[in-house]
Amino acid sequence: DYSILGYHPVKIGDEFTSDISRYRVLRKLGWGHFSTVWLCSSLISGQFVALKIVKLGKNYTEAALDEISILRLLQEDDKGYPVDDSPVVSLLDHFTIQGPNGTHIAMAFELMGENLLHLIFQNKSQKFAAASQKEPVSPYLLPVDTLRLIIFQLLQGTDYMHRHSVIHTDIKPENILITHKAEISGDIFPLKIPTKFQILPSQPLHQSTSAEEPIEIKVADLGNATFCNLHLSDHIQTRQYRAPEILLGHSWGALADVWSIGCLIFELLTGDYLFEPNLGASFTKDEDHLAQIIELLGVFPSMEYAQDCERYRKYFLDNNSLRHISKLKFWSLESVLEEKYKFDMADDNIKLLCDLLLKCLRYDLSERYDCGSLMAHPFFKKDAKFDQRECDELPNNNFNVPGFTCEEQAP
Ligand code: ADP
Ligand code: MG
Repeated sequence: DYSILGYHPVKIGDEFTSDISRYRVLRKLGWGHFSTVWLCSSLISGQFVALKIVKLGKNYTEAALDEISILRLLQEDDKGYPVDDSPVVSLLDHFTIQGPNGTHIAMAFELMGENLLHLIFQNKSQKFAAASQKEPVSPYLLPVDTLRLIIFQLLQGTDYMHRHSVIHTDIKPENILITHKAEISGDIFPLKIPTKFQILPSQPLHQSTSAEEPIEIKVADLGNATFCNLHLSDHIQTRQYRAPEILLGHSWGALADVWSIGCLIFELLTGDYLFEPNLGASFTKDEDHLAQIIELLGVFPSMEYAQDCERYRKYFLDNNSLRHISKLKFWSLESVLEEKYKFDMADDNIKLLCDLLLKCLRYDLSERYDCGSLMAHPFFKKDAKFDQRECDELPNNNFNVPGFTCEEQAP
């Protein structure tokens, strides 16, 4: 029931009026923890928009007002990008709607297509179907060129936010949207993912790597975004994408987004979560999460790091091992990709991706790469070849990002 959960009850054909337009609801596009999102047409301009109607409640309303002011800040200060090319989804209008139980905030956004979670699901089920038919299946979930474009634009969008002193804090597949350029006719709007972005499992890898038309994505859902010099909360990020500094109560900054991007890249590559923590009989979800991180990346660096963490003592013993989980199975990223996912580790792309991923997943915030620096990674070069030295020598300019490791103090 929509109203019990605080969502505004919306019916197809409902109309909403703002200062500048009148919108008619055509169909539902999606929903999240904060809102429901509807395809609407503007009865004034004829334009199609995505109308996000936020749930009732003080916290949701406050978050929505923050989302609006952050989006406006990003748009007003739009130095380099025309609105259509902005790597962040554009806000077109906002107003309030009187519901039966109170006032909802509504935001009209430029219309986008499906989110990346849908793309992942669709390709995963295709792959699964092919495998069950005993067809040969590529280890890649998406064509490499599509993957390259998605990751590059994700870095670009996040870098754009970071350079405007904004941290997303909730990067995950549901919040990254694919641009939709097709003509819309009538009120039927399928929003299918064009097959060109799907990998056909029976195709050999090399044929399926050249996408016909480049995929375009934008960063969306700034409902949890925060400022680099004014963190609105320390309880940030969706579980699977949550950085170790957040789990441990270390200071954090813009580079928390980069950890989430690392987790997302793995998911785009394999279709699986990188970390999927569970509650156990003798340990918490956070402890399982830390164990999984350590199994992949090794032990936390030093006692210096521990000293900066509010909750390090809660989870670790003096000898740096976990209090409640003793048996760890170390399994490096490279081995996971090779042994579990059957990637060919002689493939240059997978080696480059592995390097890129590990640069997103550094514990030490001064060593974790920022998005702008990662955009220069050799993986994004045409006909990318793996060269260890080139990877090692990639400059890390993370110190140029405001508040990259901690809440920046006002001058
Ligand atoms: P929440 O804060 O509730 O998570 P989001 O902004 O993430 O809200 O929107 C929820 C879902 O609605 C998204 O995952 C996406 O599928 C869909 N959606 C959001 N904005 C748009 C848009 N501009 N165009 C098309 N679909 C959208
Ligand atoms: Mg969302």
